[in-house]
Amino acid sequence: MTNTLVIQGTLLNDLRTDIIIKDNTISAVGQQLAVPQGAEIIDGCNTAVFPTFANMHSHAPMVLLRGVGDDTPLDLWLNNHIWPRERRLDDEAIYWGTRLACIEMIKSGTTAFNDMYFRLPAMAQAVADSGIRAQLGLNLFGNADELDTFDPQPHPLVSYSVAPHAVYTVNEHGLRRATLFAQSHNTAFHIHLSETQKEVSDCLAEHGCRPAEWLDRLGVLAALGPKIIAAHSLHLADDEVQLLGNHGCTVVHNPNSNLKLGSGHRFLMAELSQAGANVTLGTDGCASSNNLCMLEAAKTAALLQKGWRNDPTAAPAALVMEMASRHGFAALGLKAGRVEAGWLADLMLVDLGNLAFVPNHNTLSNLLYAAHSDAISTVVCNGRVVMRNRQVEGEAEVVAQARRCASRLMG
Ligand SMILES: [Zn+2]
Repeated sequence: MTNTLVIQGTLLNDLRTDIIIKDNTISAVGQQLAVPQGAEIIDGCNTAVFPTFANMHSHAPMVLLRGVGDDTPLDLWLNNHIWPRERRLDDEAIYWGTRLACIEMIKSGTTAFNDMYFRLPAMAQAVADSGIRAQLGLNLFGNADELDTFDPQPHPLVSYSVAPHAVYTVNEHGLRRATLFAQSHNTAFHIHLSETQKEVSDCLAEHGCRPAEWLDRLGVLAALGPKIIAAHSLHLADDEVQLLGNHGCTVVHNPNSNLKLGSGHRFLMAELSQAGANVTLGTDGCASSNNLCMLEAAKTAALLQKGWRNDPTAAPAALVMEMASRHGFAALGLKAGRVEAGWLADLMLVDLGNLAFVPNHNTLSNLLYAAHSDAISTVVCNGRVVMRNRQVEGEAEVVAQARRCASRLMG
């Protein structure tokens, strides 16, 4: 039997609109649509509808380490604060950490995320129990021996990728092996690329070329092209912008993480887009960005472009919202990110009674520049309501279990 959901009278592009969702797909969008028999009705009056976000770079379980070792230099932060605690993460902590991350994402309008971590079966179960989408990348180091035992378990809304950590932590053999694995299993290849100036100078010293050039020289770009998801891509020379663009790679800008870790802020958004790269947005893990809010990431991304270019027309709101939504879904192979018939039903309602929308001269501008995630009232993923009037099923239990697991890590 078809499950039908009707959202009545929500604001879409300044028009009162009805939306009919059949199973996981938007089947009709228009004014005063006839309600199919047996449909569940959501009153959209006093709301506006937007596509949900795709967070294209995260380490979901790190939500358990939120706030740990803040404001310390990167090497001390990793060695003294993060890595000793990460070694204590067992399946139980990974599961509840991922559940907590999913609730935070749902409450801030994200219905898909592209992650990089370990203990993927526990993560996949948590994602499946949360009702949102994820592409989980197996973190690889050194020779990529983690691939020996990689046996991903299928879940309907979960896909997998290989995720070599970076060019400075995975050697040539490991990068080649990850590439072959991604080719033969048709998975994405998710990597941290050119996050810091030090990564670039170390790569130049070791290989005589810059990180994106190194991937090109190893044949990774030619072999995988659009299957490559390059997080950060912050310190790029002109020829690297062209390389990533020519191969149709996805790049992920994580402005809050880059700013907080002091990594840099001159992300080449327009240049990468013009070169042909798919530009998307992410938060990075909660130990570095401290929350998983894509609305906040999108606002920072827009403000940074305007700021460092001295140009208020840079990164207009509509473009930044596309990067935060449709571009990310496209990289995940999903036709979502638009509220139109024939697209996947991943959408959110924002409360026009929230002060950020008073007055409401420009709904999109109010969402990006004025609102916080508490304005998001209802979230639909794959045709299913995962948050209704800010209520997410199971939240109290997840919060209690995640607190318990987090204090165990610090003990
Ligand atoms: Zn990261």
